[in-house]
Order: sequence, then structure tokens, then C-alpha cells
Amino acid sequence: MSKIKNDIRPVLKKFKILYPGEEVCLELLSRKKWEKGFVCKKCGNTNYCKGKKPFSRRCTKCKSEESATSNTLFHNCRIPLHEALEITLLNCIFPDISSYEISRNLERRHMTCYHFQKKIKSCIEGKEQDKLLKELLSEINKKMA
Ligand SMILES: [Zn+2]
Repeated sequence: MSKIKNDIRPVLKKFKILYPGEEVCLELLSRKKWEKGFVCKKCGNTNYCKGKKPFSRRCTKCKSEESATSNTLFHNCRIPLHEALEITLLNCIFPDISSYEISRNLERRHMTCYHFQKKIKSCIEGKEQDKLLKELLSEINKKMA
């Protein structure tokens, strides 16, 4: 048996304790995404108020709303954000993990895990690593340590 299999569960367990559920993960994503401030994608305005969706922001000028996930690699994800983050984290800690192992541990359809893993991998291994992804992982890893 590979070493990976024995190590996955404690990692997931710890992650779930530190980030219990969707809301906490959305908070983390929105905080990291707008760390340097909010800029409206449509009009460039930097003032915002709370949007309708949890942790989304709404431009005070043109009223367009931006969710925490839009314009990030978690946009249009078919799985909840906390699971997408779990897959992200597993790929970061265990670069050789297979989509089957992820699927078994998260109890999600294999194809769903496969597609998101592909997206994450190209992001992690890409020449220009996604800045947001890097910052998310750095905060999660600090907390997990
Ligand atoms: Zn605007």
C-alpha cells in the first residue's frame, strides 16, 4: 500500500476542523481574493457594499455584483467550495495522488474529481501559478501546520 493512503484521512480531518463548511471557505476565498481591495470588474469603482450571495460584493456605482468565486479557478465548479479546496490541498500535499483516491476519500463521483483535479494541476504546475491559489494554499498550510 502506498504511503499516501494512510496520510489522506488525517489531512482531511484536520482541514474539516479548521474549515468546517462552505461559509468558512467562502470567507477565506473572498478575503484572499480582495486582499488588496475591491475593484469593480465592470467600471473600476473601488467602493462596494454587501451583495445578495454570501460574501459577494456589489459595486456602489454600477450595481454589478461579484461573487467570491467568480473570476477565480473555483468559478462554475460543480462541487461545493470546501470540497474543491480539499482537492486542491490534497494535490498540493500529495502531488502523486490519483483522481480515484480523491474520489474514494471525498465520496464524490470520479469524473467530478478528475475534472477538477485536472484544472488544479494545470494551475499548480503552470508557468504562472495562480496567485490566488498560492495565497490560499499558503494560508491553509500555515493553519494546518
Ligand atoms: Zn461597477
